[in-house]
Amino acid sequence: MAAGCFLLGLAAPAQDFDLVIANGRVMDPASNLDAARNVGIRGARIAAISAAPLRGRSTIDARGLIVAPGFIDLHQHGQTEENYRFKARDGVTTALEMEVGVSPVAAWYAAREGKSLINFGATSGHLPARMAVMHDSGTLLPRDGAIERPATAPEQRQILALVRRGLDEGALGIGLGIAYVPLASREEILQLFRLAAERHTAVYVHMRNSGPVEPGAVDGLQELIANAAATGASVHVVHITSVSLRETPVNLAIIRGARKRGLDVTTEAYPYTAGMTDLSSEIFRPGWQQRQGGISYHDLQWAATGERLTAETFARYRKQGGMVAVHSIPEDIVRLAMADPMVMIASDGILDHGKGHPRAAGTYARVLGRYVREEHALTLMEALRKMTVMPADRLGMKNLGRIAVGANADITVFDPARVTDRATFTNPAQYSEGIPYVVVNGVPVVRGGDVVEGVEPGHAVRRKP
Ligand SMILES: [Zn+2]
Repeated sequence: MAAGCFLLGLAAPAQDFDLVIANGRVMDPASNLDAARNVGIRGARIAAISAAPLRGRSTIDARGLIVAPGFIDLHQHGQTEENYRFKARDGVTTALEMEVGVSPVAAWYAAREGKSLINFGATSGHLPARMAVMHDSGTLLPRDGAIERPATAPEQRQILALVRRGLDEGALGIGLGIAYVPLASREEILQLFRLAAERHTAVYVHMRNSGPVEPGAVDGLQELIANAAATGASVHVVHITSVSLRETPVNLAIIRGARKRGLDVTTEAYPYTAGMTDLSSEIFRPGWQQRQGGISYHDLQWAATGERLTAETFARYRKQGGMVAVHSIPEDIVRLAMADPMVMIASDGILDHGKGHPRAAGTYARVLGRYVREEHALTLMEALRKMTVMPADRLGMKNLGRIAVGANADITVFDPARVTDRATFTNPAQYSEGIPYVVVNGVPVVRGGDVVEGVEPGHAVRRKP
């Protein structure tokens, strides 16, 4: 009897898999596997990858389709049910709020645990901690108390204590939006790098300065490189194109050089020629036109209505606050970043009742459709690498971003001939197309191109403190 069971175990009976993704072309950038394979899933894990047929209780036929690790978005501000649906339809299985981060961390995770379509997580945020300590009335971004003056020494200690507590509660690193609190001293920022180094984690940073006019994008990056060198912290520079603009090639050269000399510096970009942020934030203090590379009111587009701004509407909406698209990034700079093997893909997405930037809904399909298929700016495998194993490695998560036995069964199945984004600046709430199946922890969340209703398989992604 015992021997029989043993043999049965070895033979892996047909019913052994809960779900099989059959006949697809499996592309796994971590192993460089690119071949017809069947993927067997048991529970929330990948249990087999086989050239021979597998049978399970349920099967997805992926003939003619690519089977890839689910995409990991390191920069997703929108962390609501609405946002998660758009992420899933864009192939994203893990959406993380790493730039602004959250505080308090434990409550944020508790609000989503067991209730999320896709995996979620966040850094311990310097901005929300500073806003709490300095009594700022802003919601996502500071607009008064946290920007009016430098923090006092006791305030700095309180801010640091809140950020440290977030790390104790499992946050994925430290989020830093220095540009939103330009009066934060160099030392206040350095202390956060020191904390990250102590905890062997990374800071995710929107750097202090942007654009070509000094102190600009190069100065902003050099602060981060100096702090990383001085403390040993890892650093991830968010949306390198929208902060660096025409200085992007210089800044990529600096990052490449720093990496060559042993610093752990990484970066990301989204595939659009406009950014978006709150018009009431410090980004739009006097001098914004120069810091954004010499743009004008007409290059700003109010998200609520899609209208282009004038001096008059700028003044009115700035008092009111709200999201504005900033058309400032040259197309050749976007393309350069997409093609650079060092630059990960991340969306910086947020949708609020259908309003926002198209990147929230379309980033991943846009890279695969426009920059891979149409423009040949990079290969499909390179694009997938920037969406899967690179962000997983940044997080230090060996169970994410891979089609491998034992890895989490987060899988995106798409049609390379059809995958495309549909979200636009005037109608951002449009699902991507050509992504018929998305699986999160072994559970299909997109099936036949539609979001599956009533499933909440997303896990909290935490760092072990
Ligand atoms: Zn940012």
